[in-house]
Amino acid sequence: MADDLAKFFGNIRLHNDSGGLTMGFFDKIKSTIQTAVGTVSDALNIDRLREGLEKTRTSFVSRLKSILFAGRKIDAALLEEIEEILLTSDVGLQTTEKLIDRLKIRVRDEKLEDAQVITSVLKEEIERLLVSTPSGENDAIFTFGAERRPFVIMVIGVNGVGKTTTIGKMAHTYRQSGRKVIIGAADTFRAAANEQLEVWAERAGVEVIQQQQGADPAAVTFDTLKAAIARDSDVVIIDTAGRLHNKQGLMQELEKIGRVMKKVKPTAPDEVFLVLDATTGQNALQQAREFTKVAPITGLVLTKLDGTAKGGVVLAIADAMQLPVRFIGVGERIDDLQVFNAQAFVDAMFEDRASASDGEV
Ligand code: GDP
Ligand code: GDP
Ligand code: MG
Repeated sequence: MADDLAKFFGNIRLHNDSGGLTMGFFDKIKSTIQTAVGTVSDALNIDRLREGLEKTRTSFVSRLKSILFAGRKIDAALLEEIEEILLTSDVGLQTTEKLIDRLKIRVRDEKLEDAQVITSVLKEEIERLLVSTPSGENDAIFTFGAERRPFVIMVIGVNGVGKTTTIGKMAHTYRQSGRKVIIGAADTFRAAANEQLEVWAERAGVEVIQQQQGADPAAVTFDTLKAAIARDSDVVIIDTAGRLHNKQGLMQELEKIGRVMKKVKPTAPDEVFLVLDATTGQNALQQAREFTKVAPITGLVLTKLDGTAKGGVVLAIADAMQLPVRFIGVGERIDDLQVFNAQAFVDAMFEDRASASDGEV
């Protein structure tokens, strides 16, 4: 099964390149502005990101700060308390251990003594960890060359994780970056799926290609790619029905969609995004593991971060998967999808840069 899928989607390259630590956030934004219209900077809204991470910030960072006060000694008990906070924020055992190990090394090497400095050390280590994963470099999805047009993105995942909502927001994001977008309504299974997608397409100001409920999703996909070429679109986004990784029939349906789109664009799909609901915590990580075994996922989208205090799951997933977290959803509005940027994410989680820009320093 996995082999078959890999064959049909075989041309997909995995984004295993890890981002460099050398370029600063603003340098990077400057350089991307110069090289392309519509890059990561356009899709970053620091204030919305910060609002969306409020529950996580309150729970995670406030608890950290409450134990990392001036004058407290750094000792084993303190490290255990930090570990506990990381674990209860869904950072996951493996990633938590990595971070605690790094903290120990820095405390030793830099002869740190006062607990108060640990907040910023931990923040640095979280950022370093994220930047070293495939999620560290996310400009590529905005800077695809003309030869890849129409850039085809397939969106998959289980029911209710936020696929359709994310597609509406993604269409908006690409539109904002000056791209012409077309959406394919290949969730022909669920009643009212077309209507929901139409509402989002209208908000985003993009066209949606659809057939009646029950139609073959591969046929809708075929129509959509044909339409994209006829209309000279830049980006095609294919919505799909919710499915579990272990449902043979449904996974074969996915394979058929992939096979049929190749009749129109032999190298399609350019991306296969797996959407995960961050409020499900470690289950989201489990879903990512299971899906990547049976489908050629190229990137992850984590939704509903505004609805959970356990935003630490982003660290667990970014660290555990050899796949980039491409976008995060921080609310139900059309501009509530953010390109995942390690530094902006950590800043919003710890609030520093955002409060500086507010002049509350
Ligand atoms: P699908 O079944 O995967 O297509 O999921 P939908 O797109 O229909 O979304 C399911 C529910 O999740 C809807 O009520 C959405 O409004 C909600 N949702 C999706 N993304 C987000 C998000 O980032 N934040 C919040 N709060 N809700 C979201
Ligand atoms: P079973 O109940 O475990 O035998 O599994 P089924 O195949 O009957 O369906 C389980 C779930 O899969 C349903 O509730 C639907 O959500 C979904 N499903 C079933 N058939 C289809 C289909 O043809 N297309 C899609 N996209 N989903 C389906
Ligand atoms: Mg849907």
